[in-house]
Amino acid sequence: MMLDVRNLTFSYGQRPVLQGVDISLKAGCVASLLGPNGAGKSTLFKCILGLLPGYTGDILLQGEDARRVPLKRLARSVAYIPQAHYPAFNYTVLDMVLMGTSSRVSAFASPGKAEVAAAMQALDTLQMADFAHRDYMRISGGEQQLALIARAIAQHSRLLIMDEPTASLDWGNQIRVMQQVRRLSEQGYTILQATHNPNQAYLFSDEILAMRSGRIVAAGSPRAVFTAPLMEELYGISAQVESLRDDCIRVCVPREICALECELP
Ligand code: ADP
Ligand code: MG
Repeated sequence: MMLDVRNLTFSYGQRPVLQGVDISLKAGCVASLLGPNGAGKSTLFKCILGLLPGYTGDILLQGEDARRVPLKRLARSVAYIPQAHYPAFNYTVLDMVLMGTSSRVSAFASPGKAEVAAAMQALDTLQMADFAHRDYMRISGGEQQLALIARAIAQHSRLLIMDEPTASLDWGNQIRVMQQVRRLSEQGYTILQATHNPNQAYLFSDEILAMRSGRIVAAGSPRAVFTAPLMEELYGISAQVESLRDDCIRVCVPREICALECELP
């Protein structure tokens, strides 16, 4: 297993947030974590990334207790990919990707040929090589997101953690980013993403995890997990799940709106 989370429990002060979370991810899978705001998704990610050491239970990375992995190696093997954002200063796409290799570059050294080659290769993996010398601030949100993923790849991380990576992207860019995520998984990268888009989670994931009030309430294949009762349990909205194209696609629609629409002329 690439990642094993066992009976993970975490509190902020007196406030329990994660309560007995169990997760197992095989290498090369795309897992989508669904759950309402405040469920504990980001807190779970911070625990996995070693930012909240005060948890009980275990986090194993390829079988190794994450507590025993030196922080520098942990930072290299698990990458956090933020949402696309505008940095304070202007960088080229290549500069942004090179920042991912800085954990392997000694302080004050400028990146050498090997780092630049790794960065270019990472961009190429994401079909972004032509963007290397463009200004990061002047490319689309989807391209920025791909540059941030390239940064994680240049760092040689095999487990990529993405917290709502497509939340600020238009529909086309959401699809483009998720298609690249699928390609990465075919190359053996493991991706764990939080998302608020159940339809997208169904279409692009090998596994859906559902979290509510700090507990995993469902986990498994998208076909097994993505159901109307689960959507109702997670989001408190009466839902209908429609199946299309021999169940390759499922879309979740709110039941009351469906009824309304039928009455339109
Ligand atoms: P999600 O990412 O699923 O929206 P979070 O993990 O961010 O949820 O938050 C889970 C719960 O923990 C929420 O109730 C939130 O208010 C609380 N929380 C998050 N961060 C902190 C913090 N630094 N201190 C105290 N409580 C926090
Ligand atoms: Mg969050």
